[in-house]
Amino acid sequence: MTVVVAGGGIAGLTMALTCHEIGVPVRVFESSRRILPLGVGINLLPNAVRELTDLGVADRLSEIGIATQEWALIGRGGNDIWSEPRGLLAGYRWPQWSVHRGELQLMLLDEVRRRCGTEAVVEAHRLVGYRNTSSGITATFEDRSDGSTVEVDADILIAADGLNSRARRQLLPDEGAVRWGGMMLWRGTAVGPPIRTGASFMLVGNLDQRFVHYPIGPIDPGTGLQRQNWLLELKLDAAVGWNSSAGWNREVDKSIFLPHFTEWVWEWFDVPAFVERADTVWEFPMVDRDPAPTWLDGRMALIGDAAHVMYPVGSNGASQAIVDARVLGAQFLRHGVTPDALAAFEEQLHDDVSALVLRNRGHGPMAILGEVDERCGGYFDNIDDVMPRREVEHFMSRYKEAAGFAMEALNAAPRTIAPGARIDRSV
Ligand SMILES: Cc1cc2nc3c(=O)[nH]c(=O)nc-3n(C[C@H](O)[C@H](O)[C@H](O)COP(=O)(O)OP(=O)(O)OC[C@H]3O[C@@H](n4cnc5c(N)ncnc54)[C@H](O)[C@@H]3O)c2cc1C
Repeated sequence: MTVVVAGGGIAGLTMALTCHEIGVPVRVFESSRRILPLGVGINLLPNAVRELTDLGVADRLSEIGIATQEWALIGRGGNDIWSEPRGLLAGYRWPQWSVHRGELQLMLLDEVRRRCGTEAVVEAHRLVGYRNTSSGITATFEDRSDGSTVEVDADILIAADGLNSRARRQLLPDEGAVRWGGMMLWRGTAVGPPIRTGASFMLVGNLDQRFVHYPIGPIDPGTGLQRQNWLLELKLDAAVGWNSSAGWNREVDKSIFLPHFTEWVWEWFDVPAFVERADTVWEFPMVDRDPAPTWLDGRMALIGDAAHVMYPVGSNGASQAIVDARVLGAQFLRHGVTPDALAAFEEQLHDDVSALVLRNRGHGPMAILGEVDERCGGYFDNIDDVMPRREVEHFMSRYKEAAGFAMEALNAAPRTIAPGARIDRSV
């Protein structure tokens, strides 16, 4: 009874920890020659933090991240449209964390190696295909150190190989590249004095041009400064084209985009001056895919971005990847390490997550920014004159429900995996 995971990102490593928790032998094959702390900030919503807490890594999260206290939408003129408490302050039983993606990945990797053994994660092995057999599945990896091919047999293959998933390409050969809707995104971090609560997530602008900001580290008691994640987003002329082999690691010069933001200065923040302080900037076209008709192929299941890459507009990417792994683990407990477990996993999540992909394409919670922009260009003194509070409240509660972090439902939900639950080896 073995599980092979392709991809040692957030989904794959959470899958490995979950398999270990329930007593299923697991190995992870990661294509990078070495897993390095790449990326910038990501947000973990309370539904994902709950799962990481159940996995016993909550203390380690608090070493690398910062618990978000506030989430705010701000008009182009610099005044608040909406702000709400988040995480524990809002009444959730679990916090929301802002973390550096690479540090989260390294923390999970460290836990996998500590709990499952150092052999459990095999780097420099890229999934190139899989084959269902009469009694199991054979995954084929390319060993990147010498170009040789390695075949690995398992009961189940979990493909957590990200937005350009090889397994998905085999499952859906006619699908083509990821889909670009015209938004380009530039990301980086810089150190500066705390803004607002010092733990606030801010979205400023409209549907065509935005600034996103949140801290990803504690305030240094010596300097009073903290590391802050920023994103600038701009709608480009689709005719300009884009690099269809989209990845997360394309470094670019600030001069490409900063001229578009020279006037983004308010009393409380100077965007160009802050961005100038970043050492490195990464460019990422905002891409997604149409929902896949299925995530399964015999004994292979897609999870995380491989299954449902979506626009990074609602902090759902990493959170949903974590939830996927946990739901799949729960189905292993019910059905054994079998195709039935994969079918039950798909049945539980596929339709809701597919709807979330489309909802995020429709701008997710940022649709409110678009509405305010349409009504007043984003400049106002009193938001109540533009958009009544109950209208925003209604929108936000619908969004949270769809994204799986409606507070009452989440707080009341039983654990996805009961403490101490172990797989029944006779199933
Ligand atoms: C380098 C990098 C930087 C990122 N930076 C950010 C960021 O700053 N902000 C943000 O919101 N999101 C970022 N993301 C995406 C974010 O991590 C995911 O959207 C989310 O966490 C879902 O996780 P995932 O495990 O499904 O995918 P990912 O985190 O993308 O992990 C996929 C893993 O699979 C590996 N892989 C790919 N192909 C193969 C293959 N054929 N065989 C074996 N392994 C394979 C990749 O190297 C990667 O380790 C980044 C992803 C990567 C890979």
